[in-house]
Amino acid sequence: MTAIENPALKVPIRKGEEIRRYLLDRDILRRDLKIKKQDGYIFLPIKNVDKTFSFPVVSQVFKLHKQKIVSYKELLDIPKGKLPTSYDIIGDILLIKLPLDLMEYKYKIGEALLQTHPNVKTICNIQPVSGELRTRKLDIIAGENRTETMHKEYGAIFYLDVAKTFFSPRLATERRRIASMIQNGEMIVDMFTGVAPFSILIAKYAHPDKIYAIDKNRDAVIFAKRNICLNKVEDIVDVIHGDSSNTKQILGNIKVDRVIMNLPFSAYNFFPYALQSIKPKSVIHYYSILREEFLDDHKKSLEDIASRYMFKLSFSDIRRIKTYAPREFYIGMDITAVHKADVA
Ligand code: SAM
Repeated sequence: MTAIENPALKVPIRKGEEIRRYLLDRDILRRDLKIKKQDGYIFLPIKNVDKTFSFPVVSQVFKLHKQKIVSYKELLDIPKGKLPTSYDIIGDILLIKLPLDLMEYKYKIGEALLQTHPNVKTICNIQPVSGELRTRKLDIIAGENRTETMHKEYGAIFYLDVAKTFFSPRLATERRRIASMIQNGEMIVDMFTGVAPFSILIAKYAHPDKIYAIDKNRDAVIFAKRNICLNKVEDIVDVIHGDSSNTKQILGNIKVDRVIMNLPFSAYNFFPYALQSIKPKSVIHYYSILREEFLDDHKKSLEDIASRYMFKLSFSDIRRIKTYAPREFYIGMDITAVHKADVA
């Protein structure tokens, strides 16, 4: 524990409580330092020595009280209800989505977030993820002027740029869950790999034969290649810069046991390309952003597509991963696809 030297009033223990209260009431006592007792005296750490006291002032070494981390809201003079309660931390960068009516306070909010998160170095106000490559516009509102960082997740390291690539720390449990389902020797395609977090966690926690990790975003591919080396899984994961509508051409004669389709708004359009690349019995981890009342229709549409490719689907696990908007959820489905020739 850190200790520091500081002036103190040396007071006989029997007078200690009375003087402690006196100093506290006048805001003279340092509350961040632990009071000491020694040889019948109590040592009360004080803020200033320019007053006259009826007890001697001596120099003493004090231990620091553990700092209580307060919410950033406590440091701001803004109605608490307006300030966002949730935000994401990726490596040492904090991403927050501020409502328009708080824009005039954005720099103050940024400073308050910096002060209350000792491990964070940059605060960004973000806009929603958009466009084909699922990136976001952002504005640095406090701290260091950079958007690259190193994020740790279940012992893996992901190097990324929060402005140029997609990454969500909220999918960590989902990635670990998928990694725990992999059988030895599997062939896998991660059709929308980003900076390769699914592929890397799988390679670290399971024993697949090969993972083909495809992405259309050149920046994401550069980070993904760096990440597979950083995590020492370059023998297992092949990173490919390409369009997943060409998955069949990319894989050539190879057919896979498992597909990861983490492109929630458009995975549906790529479902045929997944079906063209799988073995007669395979698993597809499919993600979508949906209102729950549309779930059955969505499943039916996937079954219709599968039927055209002679596959029969069964949905073994459908779960809400996170809330996207009121009544809209980021939904994950584990789908088993069996070729109709193989159905018993
Ligand atoms: N799986 C990653 C993760 O969990 O962090 C990234 C998911 S992000 C929602 C979707 C990714 O799909 C983005 O990195 C984007 O560049 C990529 N993408 C979009 N359209 C694509 C396409 N046609 N072919 C390949 N990648 C594509």
